[in-house]
Amino acid sequence: MTSEISTASSTAGTAAALPIRITVARGDGIGPEIMDATLRILEAAGAGLRFDEIEIGEKVYLAGNTSGMAPEAWDVLRASKVFLKAPITTPRGSGYKSLNVTTRKTLGLFANVRPCVAYDPFVPTKHPDMDVVVIRENEEDTYAGIEHRQTAEVMQCLKLISRPGSERVIRYAFEYARRAERKKISCLTKDNIMKLTDGLFRQVFREIAAEYPEIETEELIVDIGTAWLADRPGRFDVVVTPNLYGDVVSDVTAQLTGSVGLCGSANIGRNFAMFEAIHGSAPDIAGKDLANPSGLLLAAVMMLVHVGRPVIAAKVHNAWLRTIEDGIHTGDIHRDGVSTRRVGTRAFADAVIERLGRTPQKLHPVHYDESSRKALDVEPRPHPKPLKELVGVDVFVDWDAHDRDPDVLARLLHDAAPKTIDLVMITNRGVKVWPGGHPETFRTDHWRCRFMARRSADGHTPISPKAVVELLDHLAVGGIDFVKTEQLYTFDGELGFSLGQGQ
Ligand code: NAD
Repeated sequence: MTSEISTASSTAGTAAALPIRITVARGDGIGPEIMDATLRILEAAGAGLRFDEIEIGEKVYLAGNTSGMAPEAWDVLRASKVFLKAPITTPRGSGYKSLNVTTRKTLGLFANVRPCVAYDPFVPTKHPDMDVVVIRENEEDTYAGIEHRQTAEVMQCLKLISRPGSERVIRYAFEYARRAERKKISCLTKDNIMKLTDGLFRQVFREIAAEYPEIETEELIVDIGTAWLADRPGRFDVVVTPNLYGDVVSDVTAQLTGSVGLCGSANIGRNFAMFEAIHGSAPDIAGKDLANPSGLLLAAVMMLVHVGRPVIAAKVHNAWLRTIEDGIHTGDIHRDGVSTRRVGTRAFADAVIERLGRTPQKLHPVHYDESSRKALDVEPRPHPKPLKELVGVDVFVDWDAHDRDPDVLARLLHDAAPKTIDLVMITNRGVKVWPGGHPETFRTDHWRCRFMARRSADGHTPISPKAVVELLDHLAVGGIDFVKTEQLYTFDGELGFSLGQGQ
């Protein structure tokens, strides 16, 4: 098996003799134990790495740094460009930002690559034939973290999907599949509901798929796609999906292999890369020498390929496979009748070290070569700018009076608005309630009120931004509590906004 994780500007040394700088963070909970095990194995394998250690996580948060990483740690990371990170504990409470999300976005780590492989019959799993790589978009979607409370009853989270962001991760998925000789890519979205955001992701998938005719593709709605993954993972090969679905799908897929403790992940960017286990800091077993270090170790294997140490990567990976095959298992995967020895974190690492240089007899040995890190061209291609015209505005209104009767609100808006722009629709949580709503529809205090310029015979009439300002001015004078506006545009004549349900 060959897998690919480098991008165009993959970093780090080329001469095998020079130590390659790696930034390392031991993290919280089981982090220090599994990092110690991993670094011992890398050292014993002669990986030729130099580790620059930084402190991240709970202590740093509690010392008053809301991002979980001290400013000077960023400088260390900038110097090495490669980060091997143990899990951390994010303190609960709204004052703390997720270090993982901050790191991915700050360093532009656009693709999260998570190979999930079954090790049947040595690790019991219901899916002995699974070998799936989940590639998750890593920077966009609801993870932009732009949230607002707009009324007493309603909160909002913005979902942002961009063409270049989608292009980068989807092209990466196809390049990955081509290099790793994988046959099929499944794209999971919810574009039957989110026609613009997920619709864009799927559209880009189709466009890029056309450049890779040798790779079979399929497009699935994420709910049935996830159900099939959980039921028949063997029918999947590579999966590419937006951030939020990817977060869920990749955990489901990892768990199917037998333990979350078995999977590593690579976060890949143009200039930086971060490697970590997929699990958290497992405070319930911390400090007890119980944790399985395999997730972090397999992440380190991906890192070795990334920095140009493919031979060492294969040596470590094969020794690990041999250890699993010999039945030397930590508690999370230990099963009577299958395992031969139940070991702790340290003894597991010792067993891998003893097997360096050996290959598995029954599981497939891995092979990585120099081509594994050859540049991948994932840069978004230039696109012509469409003609963008303003044709209306959605005004979101906080209104809680007159039994929330939409006809009353429509009259108030009509009376307040200037005569140049028409109220054409009111929705509540996306469902049309005016004109012609249904009395049964539940209504909150949050109303989306759509105003459009009067229609000319040939479709929408462009308006000026001043018309929007004038409308808002009139609404303010009329005592309407507007909480947000969203301009409505056409792009080359195509609608750049959704229609209300029931419209
Ligand atoms: P978790 O992944 O830490 O633990 C879930 C369960 O899996 C626990 O029973 C744990 O004992 C077990 N487990 C996890 N890793 C294991 C391993 N290597 N070997 C054996 N068993 C293992 O998830 P959680 O309990 O929801 O989260 C704990 C903390 O970790 C939270 O503070 C959370 O924010 C953090 N977290 C961090 C990361 C990260 O740093 N990348 C990711 C997820 C969660």
